[in-house]
Amino acid sequence: MSKKLITRQEDYSKWYNELVVKADLAENSAVRGCMVIKPYGYAIWEKMQAELDRKFKETGHENAYFPLFVPKSLFEAEEKNAEGFAKECAVVTHYRLKTDPADSSKLIVDPDAKLEEELIVRPTSEAIIWNTYKGWIQSYRDLPILINQWANVVRWEMRTRLFLRTAEFLWQEGHTAHATKAEAIAETEQMNNIYAEFAENFMAIPVIKGTKTANERFAGAEETYCIEALMQDGKALQAGTSHFLGQNFAKAFDVKFATKEGRLEYVWATSWGVSTRLMGALVMTHSDDQGLVLPPNLAPIQVVIVPIYKGEEQLAQISEVANKLASELRSNGVSVKYDDRDTHKPGWKFAQYEMKGVPVRIAIGPKDLEKGSVELARRDILSKEIVPQTEVVEKVKGLMVEIQDNLFNRAANYRDSHITEVDSYAEFKEVLKNKGGFISAHWDGTSETELKIKEQTKATIRCIPINAEKEEGVCVLTGKPSSQRVLFAKAY
Ligand code: AMP
Repeated sequence: MSKKLITRQEDYSKWYNELVVKADLAENSAVRGCMVIKPYGYAIWEKMQAELDRKFKETGHENAYFPLFVPKSLFEAEEKNAEGFAKECAVVTHYRLKTDPADSSKLIVDPDAKLEEELIVRPTSEAIIWNTYKGWIQSYRDLPILINQWANVVRWEMRTRLFLRTAEFLWQEGHTAHATKAEAIAETEQMNNIYAEFAENFMAIPVIKGTKTANERFAGAEETYCIEALMQDGKALQAGTSHFLGQNFAKAFDVKFATKEGRLEYVWATSWGVSTRLMGALVMTHSDDQGLVLPPNLAPIQVVIVPIYKGEEQLAQISEVANKLASELRSNGVSVKYDDRDTHKPGWKFAQYEMKGVPVRIAIGPKDLEKGSVELARRDILSKEIVPQTEVVEKVKGLMVEIQDNLFNRAANYRDSHITEVDSYAEFKEVLKNKGGFISAHWDGTSETELKIKEQTKATIRCIPINAEKEEGVCVLTGKPSSQRVLFAKAY
């Protein structure tokens, strides 16, 4: 396999696929639509998990774990949710294999081991969780329940892409139960805000907060809040969702609580999730034709030090400087790798760490030993400079912040310059074709119009932005009145 990537200009989609593999993030597996997340990719995911987990706990949530399987009768209970996910369900019908009587080297499904009730591999866990909450909730004293689970789910997607859309994916799903509607809505909004903060401040990905239209809403929700990001090719990506579920699941599973006044009422619910799709968002927001670009917050290795030497003696001298620098950086909270392997040439290592998005590279050669300097390279802007050894630690500490900010600003500039207001359908189609990005347009509020536009242009309403200004206008398709603009885009 060639070391170089195809460029984004040549083929964005191919560039993404190649990058994910060459940067050692993940690869396709023997199972259709399911990926192997490799150690380097998993290390990045673990950093996302750790920060999200911290934020969830800080806001009073606890982790728990529920089963992978959902009995079909429970799955069916909330009709809209069941209907929405039915097309993507993996179903377990048997619990045993046996040797094939016709060919002893083969196994067949044992027809005598048919399950009395089929089990659905969870595409989402509301059903099994609300069936459990029924036993946990009797009175207002049992509320709220604020639980999150880290898990895998299965949705039998027909068209899959590494991280962006896989048949099995890793995620977290929060499931909360509340005494009042207002409290549940506040929770839904809080979690969407947490996702937005996380995306922007930790992943350096600018997002737009909004609500979904009825068409795009989670099956079984009354309202879906979301964060939408814009990828470098002008396509949008739903990066996280938070659902206000009303009393739908409480009614389906008969979960009632006694109020302070002694009345029996149905419980209010929310659920919220982000998935390994965020890895795809990360790649497609920041990376370039040389490979992955990582914000320092998410980089498993923040600084790599590469020695450039001839002979053992020189290596020993360089290693002394390198190890000292590495330990000083580490004691300042910077993660460092000193790559003194003699199995690869410096040029190879440079290309490798560039591909893997290591934010800062320090090279030390014989000239640097003489001058007391190092060569320091930034991955985000591909710049190089000579820095005195005594200034490296301060310089790197500053760069960790500067690179993080630069990546966010760069992505925000791109995003902001790709939100185009249009007032006619002709303009809508023209922008979509020639520029892409978000199109801010008036819409008459009907599913019918949204579907027509989708059919004709492949663009969907990504969200109705929160706090969008009220503005009287007319729908770009039907000319009917509209009171605010919504954001359309082609999406992943
Ligand atoms: P949902 O439960 O449908 O609201 O999805 C929760 C989160 O998982 C959202 O951030 C989705 O963008 C993401 N997601 C949905 N389907 C997939 C998939 N097939 N692969 C990866 N992530 C997904």
